[in-house]
Amino acid sequence: MSDVAKEFRELYGAEPEGVWEAPGRVNLIGEYTDFNDGFVMPLALPHTAVAAVSRRTDGVLRLHSADVAGGVVQLDADALQPLAGGGWAAYPAGVVWALREAGHPVTGADVHLASAVPTGAGLSSSAALEVVTALALNDLYGLGLTRPELARLAQRAENAFVGVPCGIMDQTASACCAEGHVLHLDTRDLSLRQVPFDLAAHGLALLVVDTRVKHALGDGAYADRRAACEAGARALGVRALREIPYARLDAALARLDSETVRRCVRHVVSDNERVERVAAHLAAGEPREVGPVLTEGHASLRDDLRVSCAELDLVVASAVAAGALGARMTGGGFGGSAVVLVEAAAVDTVTKSVEEAFAAAGHTAPRVFEALPSAGARRLR
Ligand code: ADP
Ligand code: MG
Repeated sequence: MSDVAKEFRELYGAEPEGVWEAPGRVNLIGEYTDFNDGFVMPLALPHTAVAAVSRRTDGVLRLHSADVAGGVVQLDADALQPLAGGGWAAYPAGVVWALREAGHPVTGADVHLASAVPTGAGLSSSAALEVVTALALNDLYGLGLTRPELARLAQRAENAFVGVPCGIMDQTASACCAEGHVLHLDTRDLSLRQVPFDLAAHGLALLVVDTRVKHALGDGAYADRRAACEAGARALGVRALREIPYARLDAALARLDSETVRRCVRHVVSDNERVERVAAHLAAGEPREVGPVLTEGHASLRDDLRVSCAELDLVVASAVAAGALGARMTGGGFGGSAVVLVEAAAVDTVTKSVEEAFAAAGHTAPRVFEALPSAGARRLR
């Protein structure tokens, strides 16, 4: 944090008006459900993007990242063009664009940021960037927007300005998560519940395994799955698949002609039910019961939605074989990260088994860390 403020001073020659941070996230359960108006259950990571920001009144937007070569990106806030490219700067610039589109008087800013969220690992480094920018501008310009409203604007920035068709989970997690909790989020109306997730108190740990691979297939596949879900909703006469109750899944499947659509519908409807089951286990104080639900969710992502890959399947298989309570890929798939629920006493054995399985298969060594449920975005000074 002090580095970011100091670097801001060196870059722009003045103190920043403030410093903010916003975390990356990992999703415990509820995958490919957020664009179906369904349920998700993410937690914020201790890894955050930190931004030092000052207002400007001359319509100039200056953006700088400590993590990217290429210097300060200078833009005209009045002339921001959606989908104009612009690399990393499109994320914070898109937030300024979305705020202005919504009628908020943002007249420019100097921004310097640095992030500890691994990029492209499915841990939402992009949402961290958007949310930290949105929160800073909300505070500095006194916009009075709520956290869910900031998340919506950040999502709009990513969808319409950057051009990534993501759902609402990532930005909401970064903006709204609470330390020691998972967020039980209804993505239809953004109603949310903070569910206590104190794994240490139960002698448990949640590991994140970043496979360090990102298969090129991913982007097109996300759009394909999304289209299949939308086709399924249309065929079933509902606005979104969240409206299909799990109890009526078989009847719904029987009405679908396309095998692909049927598999996608089965995944989404069953994963919504798994979110509710995990919520019930946590409410009942039985977090160990969450494990098998995670593994079941992985099988659904692998076999029905078909968005897993060899590396993610290997994390799950090797972790479970080494005694993990359960594991699943998390995020969009085709690489990125998996989550593994383990007894705290088994963290080392399970980690070692996954690393050995990767070495034996000739894969790049994965990065394994413990996910401590952390706070959402906040002002640091
Ligand atoms: P994820 O959100 O899963 O990490 P994305 O592809 O959605 O992956 O977002 C990664 C992109 O976000 C990077 O390619 C880069 O453009 C931007 N980004 C993330 N962190 C930083 C950073 N510290 N500095 C500059 N850009 C960043
Ligand atoms: Mg992202």
